[in-house]
Amino acid sequence: MTFQDGGSFDSGRVRKRTGGAGKAGGVAVGGGLGIAVIVVVAQLLGVDVSGLFADSSSPQSETDLVGCETAERANADSECRYGWTIESLDAFWAATLPEQAGVAYTQPGAVTFSEATTTGCGNASSATGPFYCPADETVYVDVSFFGVLRDQFGSSGGPLAEEYVVAHEVGHHIEQITGVMSTADRSGTGPESDSVRIELMADCLAGMWASNAATLPDPETGKPFLEPISEADLADALSAAEAVGDDRIQEAATGSVNPESWTHGSAEQRQRWFMTGYQGGTFEQCNALTATTL
Ligand SMILES: [Zn+2]
Repeated sequence: MTFQDGGSFDSGRVRKRTGGAGKAGGVAVGGGLGIAVIVVVAQLLGVDVSGLFADSSSPQSETDLVGCETAERANADSECRYGWTIESLDAFWAATLPEQAGVAYTQPGAVTFSEATTTGCGNASSATGPFYCPADETVYVDVSFFGVLRDQFGSSGGPLAEEYVVAHEVGHHIEQITGVMSTADRSGTGPESDSVRIELMADCLAGMWASNAATLPDPETGKPFLEPISEADLADALSAAEAVGDDRIQEAATGSVNPESWTHGSAEQRQRWFMTGYQGGTFEQCNALTATTL
């Protein structure tokens, strides 16, 4: 899925952090793929990852995300694509949330970092994967994760796969500002747990955005942000949702599947909830917290 020519990007929308915390993060999650995978298993595309953070002490510098001003850059560079996707999500939820949930949309913070960074939820390492911190209402993405998703988790890759991940994290922000997050008991695990419900809802909200991103006009240009989604784009998003299913990750990491420790839902559930949103699902239909079947 590609961004249309003629759009614009506000370089201040995403904060780029560099330097400092990176080294400490590398040490804390070092020791090879095994450890990194275990950490990722616990927190992939998660929320509030406090407790698993790397130690970090040195300050980072923060700048605008520059060099992403054209659609051509958004279509060529993952960091720029992240920024453009955030702006598309802003426009979609600003138009949709008041109507469907009776709540005004407030923009989440959006940070791109490398290796490690500090957050309102503690210090974060890239090994946790992209995440949303409710305490500072900010999405954190190290775009190197997209390579991990493709090369280590076996997803097909592609732009919509990356955009799905960003939309999933903003989905957690939607849960936060609508009060859904605060109704969830995220201490438990298992196929019926609130932890899984929160994740499946974020997948569904991501699907809602994807189904509208090619028709929703950019408020600044009046033209849609994205070209129409192709079958191949959709397959990429579903491949990513499948790759981060708890059963798939457990099978790859340990050779067996233990539903009682699930925190995000199975590959089948994650794809199905994404499709529920994609096929015209509403905010209410995406609310897995109140769903009788998952
Ligand atoms: Zn999540």
